[in-house]
Amino acid sequence: MMNCARVEGRLGLFGGSFDPVHLGHLLVAQAACEELGLSRLFFIPAAQSPFKPGAEPAPASARLAMLRLALAGEARYEIDDQEIRRGGVSYTIDTVRDYAARFAPAELFYLIGADHVSKLPQWREADELARLAQFVVIPRPGEVMAPPPVPFRVRTLGGFPLAVSSSQVRQRVKARQAVTHLVPAAVAEFIYNNRLYL
Ligand code: ATP
Repeated sequence: MMNCARVEGRLGLFGGSFDPVHLGHLLVAQAACEELGLSRLFFIPAAQSPFKPGAEPAPASARLAMLRLALAGEARYEIDDQEIRRGGVSYTIDTVRDYAARFAPAELFYLIGADHVSKLPQWREADELARLAQFVVIPRPGEVMAPPPVPFRVRTLGGFPLAVSSSQVRQRVKARQAVTHLVPAAVAEFIYNNRLYL
């Protein structure tokens, strides 16, 4: 098991659809842990992303199961299913408010891929969100890093840029192409055994 220099009271929040979780996500987590010295990092799967209104994700139970398989044995990572339990469209502000209330005075770092930076001002209650959490951007190949939008506090990590996306994994499964080395082996096995994304 790997270690990162942990600083108490620095919490990483990593929201997404995780449909499915892939190695790009795991490298985001590793970069954030190492570069920010997070004490804890929470993966927070969305019930329904506000930015993917037409898309019906795989059942929450399957997305959670794949996260558990991907994170097994990683003591520093936790899975928080609060957005799934709330149901409906998942708004980050609701989740960040919950963390701010429960963990005050911890510093909250919300992790996003470079593709989300330019859209931050459109996130619900953007001003309050910007006040409660710092945003941490991980480079994503093919995405030009937009300038940080006011009033967000944005920090960019070096990371491990990897051009893998969940949509690419889903498309490859549908086309009967291998997803080995794009997702953890146990996740690939889960996808095949449960006939997901066909
Ligand atoms: P999809 O292809 O279905 O849109 P995705 O691969 O972007 O999915 P999400 O679960 O929607 O995966 O992403 C959660 C978060 O992780 C987002 O902030 C996204 O930008 C970030 N992310 C996902 N993949 C990468 C990657 N390869 N590098 C950096 N950030 C990533």
